[in-house]
Amino acid sequence: MLKSKIKNIAIVGGTHGNEFTGAYLVKHWLKNPHLVKREGFKTEIVFANQRAFKEVKRYIDRDLNRSCSEIILNSPDLNLHEERLARELNSLIGPKDNADKNVDFVIDLHTTTANMGLSLVVSDDSLLTWLAVSYLCEEFPELKVYRWQGDEEGAYVNSLGSAGFAIEVGAIAQGLLRADIYQDMQKLIYSLLDFFEKPREVKRSVTIYDHVALVDFPRYKNGEICAMVHPNRQDRDFELIKDGDIMFISFDGDSITHKGDESLYGVFINEAAYYEKGFAMCLAKKVEYNF
Ligand SMILES: [Zn+2]
Repeated sequence: MLKSKIKNIAIVGGTHGNEFTGAYLVKHWLKNPHLVKREGFKTEIVFANQRAFKEVKRYIDRDLNRSCSEIILNSPDLNLHEERLARELNSLIGPKDNADKNVDFVIDLHTTTANMGLSLVVSDDSLLTWLAVSYLCEEFPELKVYRWQGDEEGAYVNSLGSAGFAIEVGAIAQGLLRADIYQDMQKLIYSLLDFFEKPREVKRSVTIYDHVALVDFPRYKNGEICAMVHPNRQDRDFELIKDGDIMFISFDGDSITHKGDESLYGVFINEAAYYEKGFAMCLAKKVEYNF
């Protein structure tokens, strides 16, 4: 079934210019395309935001991974750097609003300053996406799957193709290369390519962390942050947070706890890029997803 479906996949790196792992991987593959070439389908290698990469910034004008919305793609008069890039990516990968797309599966490479290890961010419900997710979970038992169903999932780069997801690996600082993280991401991609080349039966069920809420930092009345992620919460992604558990610590040293009846798991804890978006972490529930 998979074989007849996949004709073209895209590996996109440097969507965020300061996430070096994916950027250097696609730069390496652009020089050595045979490394990601497999029988039966074509692999597009895309170095997405080269200007932001040169400037070691997440983006120049706006977040590219929140710019692939129908509004931006269909408004040629919107001229910010990432709005233009989003339309270029759409011509290459999409068209997003057309069932007949150039690319069947998009793998978008990201890193995070949160201690998320090897993880996938999935916001698509196509069968192909979940077969690939399930396969990778079998191959990499440490892999975590975070399903994001926030407001912005329709504007992700991977939403341009028929199926796909983002890979997030961390913790790693922005603008930094670490060989261990580079190799972790690389082996995940190679394994996925092998699956697309020689698909096999996989379990139709995956344990996922399903997005529930965003948690902002505690703030002063003027909007400034008045507390940090507590040392006992820092780096504890995918761990359970119950009512009364410590979340933040004020600049005076006062602890701030979680209030809520539902026990949830912390994800993207203290991700540097999310300070500007106004949240300190995401909360998710752990569920078995059948597809
Ligand atoms: Zn990113």
